[in-house]
Amino acid sequence: MTEDSIDLFGGLPGRHVVPVLVPMPAPKPYSYAVPEGMAVEPGSIVQVPLGPRLVPGVVWDGADDGAVDPKKLKSIAQVFDCPPLTRDMRAFIDWVAAYTLSPPGLVARMALRAPAAFDQEPMIEGLRLTETRPERLTPARSRVIAAADNGFAWTRSGLAHAAGTSSSVIDGLTVQGVFETMFMAPPPIVAVPDPDYAAHRLEGPQKQAAVDLLDSVAAGGFSVSLIDGITGSGKTEVYFEAIAATLKAGRQVLILLPEIALTASFLERFQDRFGSKPAEWHSDLAPRTREKVWRQVTEGGVKVVAGARSALFLPFENLGLIIVDEEHDPAYKQEDRVFYNARDMAVVRARIADFPVVLVSATPSVESRVNGEMGRYKPIHLPTRFGDAALPDLGLVDMRKHPPERGGFLSPVLLKHVGKAIGRGEQALLFLNRRGYAPLTLCRVCGHRFQCPDCSSWLVEHRFRGQIQCHQCGHAEKTPEACPECGTFDHLVACGPGVERIAEEVERHFPEARTIVLSSDLMGVKRLRLELDAITRGEADIVVGTQLVAKGHNFPLMTFVGIVDADIGLANGDPRAAERTFQLLSQVTGRAGRTGLKSLGLLQTYQPQHPVMQAIVSGDSDAFYAREIHEREKALLPPFGRLASLIISADSRADAEGHARAMRLAAPRVKGISLLGPAEAPLALIRGRHRFRLLVHGRRNSDMQAFVKVMLAAGPKVRGSVQVQLDMDPQSF
Ligand code: ADP
Ligand code: ZN
Repeated sequence: MTEDSIDLFGGLPGRHVVPVLVPMPAPKPYSYAVPEGMAVEPGSIVQVPLGPRLVPGVVWDGADDGAVDPKKLKSIAQVFDCPPLTRDMRAFIDWVAAYTLSPPGLVARMALRAPAAFDQEPMIEGLRLTETRPERLTPARSRVIAAADNGFAWTRSGLAHAAGTSSSVIDGLTVQGVFETMFMAPPPIVAVPDPDYAAHRLEGPQKQAAVDLLDSVAAGGFSVSLIDGITGSGKTEVYFEAIAATLKAGRQVLILLPEIALTASFLERFQDRFGSKPAEWHSDLAPRTREKVWRQVTEGGVKVVAGARSALFLPFENLGLIIVDEEHDPAYKQEDRVFYNARDMAVVRARIADFPVVLVSATPSVESRVNGEMGRYKPIHLPTRFGDAALPDLGLVDMRKHPPERGGFLSPVLLKHVGKAIGRGEQALLFLNRRGYAPLTLCRVCGHRFQCPDCSSWLVEHRFRGQIQCHQCGHAEKTPEACPECGTFDHLVACGPGVERIAEEVERHFPEARTIVLSSDLMGVKRLRLELDAITRGEADIVVGTQLVAKGHNFPLMTFVGIVDADIGLANGDPRAAERTFQLLSQVTGRAGRTGLKSLGLLQTYQPQHPVMQAIVSGDSDAFYAREIHEREKALLPPFGRLASLIISADSRADAEGHARAMRLAAPRVKGISLLGPAEAPLALIRGRHRFRLLVHGRRNSDMQAFVKVMLAAGPKVRGSVQVQLDMDPQSF
């Protein structure tokens, strides 16, 4: 037991009562009695009765508030045999709950995501070499004995694998007494990485970058470094040095990656450097694997986790470093239940537990960039590509001057360069961030447009599946043969391109080429991984893809990248649109030229003068950031001001709007904070729910949480179908 437990409960006479946080949207912990003879402390993971069920929970900090009559209290059912959540972890959960104004139980729930893992893993049968030797020594038997001769216990299958024999050889030896059987702990899910396994010699600017980084990381205490280097500059190798230093200090490491399920190549690269793979953590893990990883992370057996944003809530035993790769990526934002940005919360976790965090990006978020310029984060620059790899030449295709042929979307100059690349035996990538065949289908006779019955969005034709689908709610129907409005047959027209339609156009022009379409709706994660591997091996000539292809992949033969519609993200009126488009386009064009081969990127645009297009072709990202930062500062937008978004939704439009208006009327008046709206939310109807939005805008030092709390308390009671969702720091606004 720790000091906490003695302070809090040790001296109390009679029945002990403790607060227990259960994974529910309750505003505070519930009180439970501790049965005679049971030892708990803050952080203990327990099982408690809640209504008719038993649920997991965590003994929380602070004394019980005594609000419940002790006679009516229920008792803790059991304490799980796993390490308690550390004091830092509990402080982190409380912090996130207070910042996002979420019930702490829902935040704690993210830390307890593998409930079946709370109980000690059962021991398994192991084999250990004795002094006895077999009567007859065959080559297979010798191999088994040699492999097992290290003083450790082995599983039967593990030993057979290590010796390259069948298990029956081992069974034979066991019968003769060469092995004794015993019980042992199950083998670790991943081997322990070796910081000295195969370090690369850092070259050029990497050397100074690593010195600067280690300067902050090796000290061990809280610091934030921002590695800002163009794609292919060797950022990964640099932060691997920070990982090695942390492992040498005996502490655990968390690497956050935006698309971990698709970055198998990252795991291999890690293995080449450290001799073993990191443990993975993301939503596609099998439940059994998930439990094992959770368990071994809490016990400290797993040293390095590479995970999606949810890995930030894993209760590490001794976390000493977090890396946030592609820190600008929107995938770090969770917009469900607890709304949080894993990049920002990683910094918070590091500050609370006093260890370093490293943010990494070729195109940092404006927020991080400003923090770097203000000296809050330590900027580390890598200005050139590693080795003889050169950035692709980049150019704009002005679509007003180079229109595609009728019915097509690819300008002649783009097609010419696709042809050139594949003619040289290299690869071309055509990027369009739009799934399906066409974003809009309409009837040529009456003008009828196909709209989702439940959402304010058009149905997108997916020709490969013969369906029209809603990208908001997933509603899908068979592509109709006749117009439901006027009944005319064969007059439906597809408007605009999606990746499927681009692939069709490419195949028309290059019928001999091997064309692959990469899109999340066409294949699961497993298939995608295989396809990405195939592309890396050169087994495709032309790749047509959505943003899936943008992230982290290294295709050595990719020497041409064509952006089908560079303007696509700029039109939506969101103040972050320019930043996002710049980041995405930099990332996609960065797929070209990963080796010494000369490469080219072309962007099709109707606005060649737009600052984003100019920044991309000139490579002058500094000018772009300076302009963006200036605009944000003028408008007091983040990080120079603060925003919170409240989405008020209901089954009827009137209820949603009425509630939103009443909230606005009841809101307090506070200097420096203003309310905008209510207005229809950018997606005004999703899954049959009408949505209105109130935006809270404050100055940098405004207490937004306090304001929103008062506002929610003063506003009308939430009733009927009304729901209010709060997003502190919304991504789009
Ligand atoms: P970034 O993360 O900045 O995009 P990477 O770290 O992926 O860049 O490096 C780009 C390529 O250069 C990779 O293939 C990597 O293996 C290689 N590379 C980088 N640094 C070194 C080094 N010091 N020694 C050998 N190869 C390196
Ligand atoms: Zn829909």
